[in-house]
Amino acid sequence: MFARQKLYEGKAKIVYATDDPDVFLTHFKNDATAFNAQKRGQIAGKGEINAAISSHLFQLLEANSIPTHFIDRPTAEDMRVKAVKIIPLEVVVRNIAAGSLCQQTGLELGAVLKQPLVEFYYKNDALGDPLLTRDRLLLLELATPEQLDQLQQMALRINELLSAFFQQCGITLVDFKLEFGLDRNQQILLADEISPDTCRLWDQGETDPDRRVMDKDRFRRDLGDVEGAYRRVLERVLNQPVQPLVQEPVQE
Ligand code: C5P
Repeated sequence: MFARQKLYEGKAKIVYATDDPDVFLTHFKNDATAFNAQKRGQIAGKGEINAAISSHLFQLLEANSIPTHFIDRPTAEDMRVKAVKIIPLEVVVRNIAAGSLCQQTGLELGAVLKQPLVEFYYKNDALGDPLLTRDRLLLLELATPEQLDQLQQMALRINELLSAFFQQCGITLVDFKLEFGLDRNQQILLADEISPDTCRLWDQGETDPDRRVMDKDRFRRDLGDVEGAYRRVLERVLNQPVQPLVQEPVQE
């Protein structure tokens, strides 16, 4: 299996075609960006750490009946994935108010939401990834109503699973961003990555609002020790086995 043509280079990853048309290779970079790439830097070891965390979490989700693009991790910084066409949506799930939710609504940082909030953003750098309404999303034909319902359900189930998993790690899953893709049979697969770049993770052993941060907010807000925090997430994640976590939802 050889990586061939570069298909896409994003801020944190490069996607290559391989000699199998159904398989892509995702390379995780150490590059870090924030605020729509207005802030740029490097986090030592990030590629390897995020590839390892993502691989573990994708396997955990697969073990809990969530279809993902994950195949395997042939090298430290590379993940082999099923070829999908990415749906241009960033699906954000929030359990606790932070980040843009606080900025845009005035909710206090750390306010626990009564129920998880699922939001859809338009994955479009030129437009600054704007928050979409359901009607705008359908107007732009970014997904069908059926796909939208399925994305919402998958995002909520993934939140249940990841929240329970991180709880076992002594980490609170504040919020996170997911991306999904369509395979050649139009099946929706969870894609992209799940890592401290794409999740807000708070250490349950720390009460100080800055010290508890174990995610990219350390880079965004210049809190220091970014690599150390990412490594602590990795250690705790790898300490928990990949296994079925929460009961399957009862089918009506
Ligand atoms: O900035 P905001 O509060 O909307 O981010 C919500 C969550 O989505 C955070 O965990 C953040 O890391 C993630 N996110 C992301 N990529 C983006 C925007 C947000 O991973 N382009």
